Amino acid sequence: MTQVKAYAAHQADQPLGPFDLERRNPGPLDVEIEILYCGVCHSDIHTARNEWGGTMYPIVPGHEIVGKVTAIGAQVTKHNLGDTVGIGCFVDSCGYCHNCKEDLEQYCENGHSQTYNSFLQDKKTITYGGYSTHIVVTEKFVLRVPDKLPLEAVAPLLCAGITTYSPLKHWNVKKGDKVAVVGLGGLGHMAVKIAAAMGADVTMLSRSPEKAKDADALGAHHFELTTDSENMKKMTGRFDLIIDTVSAQHDYNAYLHLLKTDGTMVLLGVPPEMEQIHAGSLIFGRKSLVGSLVGGIKETQEMLDFCAEHGIVSDVEVISMDQINVAYERTIAGDVHYRFVIDMASLKN
Ligand code: NAP
Ligand code: ZN
Repeated sequence: MTQVKAYAAHQADQPLGPFDLERRNPGPLDVEIEILYCGVCHSDIHTARNEWGGTMYPIVPGHEIVGKVTAIGAQVTKHNLGDTVGIGCFVDSCGYCHNCKEDLEQYCENGHSQTYNSFLQDKKTITYGGYSTHIVVTEKFVLRVPDKLPLEAVAPLLCAGITTYSPLKHWNVKKGDKVAVVGLGGLGHMAVKIAAAMGADVTMLSRSPEKAKDADALGAHHFELTTDSENMKKMTGRFDLIIDTVSAQHDYNAYLHLLKTDGTMVLLGVPPEMEQIHAGSLIFGRKSLVGSLVGGIKETQEMLDFCAEHGIVSDVEVISMDQINVAYERTIAGDVHYRFVIDMASLKN
């Protein structure tokens, strides 16, 4: 066991602060990683503040990790010392259920091990995330990161990137499809970039008029305000696919009306509150309301390679570890452009 420096939340209503963490020594199939950068996902905030219930304190969030390999176990074949690698939202799964065999580890029937606030496959060791100097992960769940992209801007691809890439692929987005993205934050800005790279006609749906210029720079073809009901009415029946990334309660029915017949709305955001759906919102127009959870390891590697090929990274604001509590407040206020990323060197010093 090695002690490493980390930042943890000890209680739902307390700011995060320094915390010393034990990481296991690398086993035969393990990779030890020195963390260089870790993105700040809204899921970190929901979990640190126990907004979904079930948070096990102290919790070390962080599942958008990029770093360098500092040690490998004797049987590791995928990675070498010094490689640049990434870790996303999960660090293990059973490996033998139907979904694991189909490269859908995120839907492991025996429960996948999330990067933090979860259990390893022994079902008793608690996982701690990327707000720390080092992490040890079994090699299958360690991604190769293309060296030619700026690493601080690659980190958010490990969650925000794959979470948006996976449904765009699964629902077969192609050239000319009318795709709407709801909420311009971490996930939303990646959805815009990736959907545009896939050739879709992309509309940004936002409650924040000041983000219109940014949406355009990110590659959105249209920007529409969701706070104006006349404007919403005007878009009735317009979209093939809606990607909803909103982190707080909002009326799904209002967005379902914007779908074409047979259109699909994908929920990615996980507001803590329950939302009511009217059956009529789906029945009229044979519409689908679906959800999607990150993406499997194979697909995450495919997404990283796709982003390298298209020169896609996240737009980031790099912070030091001790700025994390301010970053949380700014994220909740929608004041993020468009992902905070922690420079982990600030924790080492
Ligand atoms: P984020 O950066 O905070 O972005 C969320 C965006 O939602 C905001 O920028 C804002 O965009 C909009 N929004 C926020 N509050 C709102 C409100 N009260 N009413 C209407 N719009 C509001 O968050 P994120 O990191 O992208 O994460 C978004 C959600 O996805 C979170 O709930 C997170 O837990 C979840 N998530 C899910 C998965 C998955 O696998 N499904 C993976 C990662 C994250 P505008 O200002 O443009 O309206
Ligand atoms: Zn995330």
